[in-house]
Amino acid sequence: MELNIIKGIGDKTITLLNKLNIYTIDDLVNYYPFRYEILEKTDLNSDRVVIDGVVETSPLFIRLRGKLDKMSFRIRLDDRICNVVIFNRGFLRNNIKINTTITIIGKYDIKHNTITASDIKFGSISSLPKITPVYHTVSKITSKQINNYILKVIDDIKVTDIIPSILLDKYKLIPKSEAIREIHRPDDMHLLKNAINHIKYEELFLFMLKMNELKRNRVKVIGIKKDVDKNNVLEFINNLPFKLTNDQLKVVDEIYNDLTSNIVMNRLVQGDVGSGKTIVSFIAIYINYLAGYQSALMAPTELLAYQHYLNIKNIFKDYDIKIELLTGKTKNKKKLLEDLKNNKIDVLIGTHALIEDSVVFNNLGLVITDEQHRFGVHQRFTLEDKSKCPDILYLSATPIPRTYAMTIYGDLDISYIKTKPTGRKDIITKVKKNSDIKGVLGLMLEQIKLGHQIYVVSPLVEEDESLNLTSINLLKEKLSLAFKNLFRIEIIHGKMKTSEKESIMNDFKNNQIKILIATTVIEVGIDVSNATMMVIFNAERFGLATLHQLRGRVGRSDLQSYCYLISDSDNDRLKVMEESNDGFYISQKDFEMRGHGDLFGVKQHGDMSFKLANLKNDYNILLFANEDAKKFIDSKEYLNNEYYKDLAQNLNITD
Ligand code: ADP
Ligand code: MG
Repeated sequence: MELNIIKGIGDKTITLLNKLNIYTIDDLVNYYPFRYEILEKTDLNSDRVVIDGVVETSPLFIRLRGKLDKMSFRIRLDDRICNVVIFNRGFLRNNIKINTTITIIGKYDIKHNTITASDIKFGSISSLPKITPVYHTVSKITSKQINNYILKVIDDIKVTDIIPSILLDKYKLIPKSEAIREIHRPDDMHLLKNAINHIKYEELFLFMLKMNELKRNRVKVIGIKKDVDKNNVLEFINNLPFKLTNDQLKVVDEIYNDLTSNIVMNRLVQGDVGSGKTIVSFIAIYINYLAGYQSALMAPTELLAYQHYLNIKNIFKDYDIKIELLTGKTKNKKKLLEDLKNNKIDVLIGTHALIEDSVVFNNLGLVITDEQHRFGVHQRFTLEDKSKCPDILYLSATPIPRTYAMTIYGDLDISYIKTKPTGRKDIITKVKKNSDIKGVLGLMLEQIKLGHQIYVVSPLVEEDESLNLTSINLLKEKLSLAFKNLFRIEIIHGKMKTSEKESIMNDFKNNQIKILIATTVIEVGIDVSNATMMVIFNAERFGLATLHQLRGRVGRSDLQSYCYLISDSDNDRLKVMEESNDGFYISQKDFEMRGHGDLFGVKQHGDMSFKLANLKNDYNILLFANEDAKKFIDSKEYLNNEYYKDLAQNLNITD
């Protein structure tokens, strides 16, 4: 149903609602508040005072600078008269009438006997709605307006339950039609919680239904059985410049078994940053090559793709394997695509460019996705569609505890690389204040004198990107000055041309640049083992998982490495970085301390973008949903239900 059936709604409002991705009545009623404002009387000592009283004096209105204004008046409470001050609500001044009752929300200052109000509502607390939904909005449309539009239609819409009735009973959930009403027009906290749980459970149940179906389906998928003599693989491993760790060998074994079986490989390799996942994926490529098939490796950034390209060329320099790089910036694209189709290329490394329609392989046998969590599910699947049933390998450095991984990656087998290559030392990590910077500069110079290199990361501070670039240029100047221009310091950032980035990266790799300054995380997703120090400014702006990834850029050899986190805020989170080098421990701490947000930085892709559920906070619901989904799939009811028939068809499930 179209939005224009709502009384009093105009084209302008519809355009605004469209901006919020609301196009139909259905979208509108499924646009949920992100929080609720609770109105409950407090005393004056409360941090957020909510109190009602009778207006004693007419408001005094003053226009301040620009658009600012200030209004003050007196109010009679139960036991005293006090002052009220409120900013930028001048438009309300004619409504504040002597002897009427109003409700004030704000903060009380005893010394001046004044409440600085953040909001005023007309009427006593008991006459006002207790729970008010608050929606995300765009400018020119208020949360209240959105709620009003929803309330105009909410009693007329038809809502059918998706959750099977046995499960609604099991969890004592109210029907969905009631849940939707309660969410937009809450009566009491108890019912509201039930309503929210209904929606969360529904989202997670559907998600787990899909995950379980994917898993069940996959078992049946017959892929290419690759015929490769294990001795050839072992010989290759023996010729590597280093000895593989036991965990790496174990994962290689798992991959070898997958590739040589007739069932399609669908494997995620989880390993902390620096644990050596890349080489494992190269061995998979080698096995696939020996079997006579093409491989594709997709990385999230051009820089990372380029680095993999250099790296793999080096590893395979004595072998007759044809390797090419394809990014958005590739010049000889036509010829390259032609060669790819004619099987003249064995390995194609690239970015998102690999999933474009024009990229056609001859006999793609293996698809590898590095830093899997940065891609959405959709992108994964397109690349995999490029061949009948290629084997698939995902690499991920995001440390997700096993139980979580099993549920959200329910369709994958998981391998773990737990140990680092031998000889790696823990990275010594210290939190420092900006006032300690002199000391840090001294330590930096020490490392450079030892012949080592340094990364400096300064996160986006200003919303305006051009300002950031100035601030990072300033940082470069300051560092150059501090080090008396003794050596080369360069900047790398997202806005640079690819060729520029590549040339800076090459020079850094070749130790011609001593300090590399970057604005964001992604730009330093590179591997330079001679870099031994990481200095991160405004460290409090990053999540722990991100800091851990960043820090993982150093400590990639047996040299002692250091990480300095510069931050003026007293921040317990950063202390965790001093305590530990273990990504799993750190993410667990991050989880405990922050409680919500993204799941360890995993990009929540299409299937995972829930409106109310949150994989972290609602993990218990997820576990129940998982069990129920499994049982449900096994039951007959599944295929007889209209809704699930559609779902089943979408997932290519018949029987
Ligand atoms: P990540 O798992 O973070 O992707 P990389 O694969 O980039 O880590 O490996 C980090 C560094 O360790 C690379 O320079 C790589 O060549 C090196 N490396 C990998 N495995 C070993 C090993 N078994 N012994 C010594 N160095 C290794
Ligand atoms: Mg890597």
